[in-house]
Amino acid sequence: MTAELLLADYVRDSRDRIVGSLVDYLRIPSISSDPEHHTDVWDSATHTVDLMRGAGLENLDVVHVDGLPAAYGEHLGAGPDAPTVLVYGHHDVQPVDPLDQWTSPPFEPTFVDGECRARGAIDDKGQVLYEIEAVRGLLQRDGRLPVNLKFLIEGEEESGSPTFERILTTHRERFACDAVVVSDTGMIAPDVPSICVGMRGLVGFTLSVRVADSDLHSGVFGGAVVNPAHVLARVVADLHDADGRVAIPAFYDDVHEPEPAEAASLAALPFDEAAWRRDGANIRAVGGELGRSILERTTTRPTADVTGIGAGYQGAGLKTIVPAEGTVTVTFRLVPDQDPVAIGRALRTWVAARMPDGMEWSLTPRGGIRPMVTPISTPEMGALSRAIERVWGVAPLFTREGGSGPEESLGRVLAAPVLFLGVGLPGDRIHAPNERMVMDQFWRGLLAAGELFSELGKVES
Ligand SMILES: [Zn+2]
Repeated sequence: MTAELLLADYVRDSRDRIVGSLVDYLRIPSISSDPEHHTDVWDSATHTVDLMRGAGLENLDVVHVDGLPAAYGEHLGAGPDAPTVLVYGHHDVQPVDPLDQWTSPPFEPTFVDGECRARGAIDDKGQVLYEIEAVRGLLQRDGRLPVNLKFLIEGEEESGSPTFERILTTHRERFACDAVVVSDTGMIAPDVPSICVGMRGLVGFTLSVRVADSDLHSGVFGGAVVNPAHVLARVVADLHDADGRVAIPAFYDDVHEPEPAEAASLAALPFDEAAWRRDGANIRAVGGELGRSILERTTTRPTADVTGIGAGYQGAGLKTIVPAEGTVTVTFRLVPDQDPVAIGRALRTWVAARMPDGMEWSLTPRGGIRPMVTPISTPEMGALSRAIERVWGVAPLFTREGGSGPEESLGRVLAAPVLFLGVGLPGDRIHAPNERMVMDQFWRGLLAAGELFSELGKVES
């Protein structure tokens, strides 16, 4: 840690207080998916507002629209000519079961081997706290901030952000900004800093087919009736061509290659296939699009996957039927600039061409998240790269992650580039027992947030 970093002294002098603050924050069991914990989510929103107040943020509020509350605060002292940055994170957490696999109680933060173990340590309270502390540090140091800052800390990210977009649109003016900083992602390794630049979108469909009102005796009717299981099997088999590409016409029409600098970074990412297979529950067989690396297949390329399929008798022994019906659910991971609605339309036409005459069928959409990417050539991304490089001492690589929704909404509704400053590590056990924050990463995150705000203050808006 070099002394030229803006917040180096602050981190050194305030360490104990900040750790205490982290512990208090992590003690609140703000599990948003469990109604029994909803009062805790409200407490945690209020607590987040208190943390912001302590840091010097103003116009504090607990914001909600028929759902769980987000915490809001701002500091607009940099003036109308300075850029405005909105920091996003979430103060709700995942459930904790299976409880017996925790080595210490999930809401009693415990420090072991340089890590803080608790539910929410990395996802996402720890990451929210270092952003807030960076503000406090900068105000303490300079009495002013290099940018106008707004903090929007959501309370229902871990339960699918059901009302987040409505919160955003309801308060669009209030949240207006020139850039969004999301602190809810990770990097490759402590010594291989990386920046997430985009997230794949997601859209799913359930296809249901029916041939008769009830199952038919296969000895009496079999041979003369179209079998729904066979129909679904054909649809699934046709979904990909021999090269592993999705075979639906127009599926790739809006897919672009990443810009050359990002492609080069992707190729330079350290990737250990054996470790990847092991961490992926001992993957036996690797497949996918011919001519693409595993990293490309899982980040910059779109996919189609059957997530569930069912037809006919699945119990023990033999049941001699032609099943009356069957269903299959297919999900597509989308990349910029694929549109979930256009994909749905193309799929419907393609499925219709595969349905035998007279077969009853329906295609039901299952949610949709648009993909997003922030080009690495944008000035804001340059600011983030410099901030990371200053703190970690090496230039960051660029990655993409799977998306959960709010990031794409933020960029689209607020019409601002989304930057990801995240210090999570692959071993942080997010959503699992013994979730942790590696404290070295926490302090680096705090330092990097200070550098980032300073760098963003120099970007022409
Ligand atoms: Zn999270």
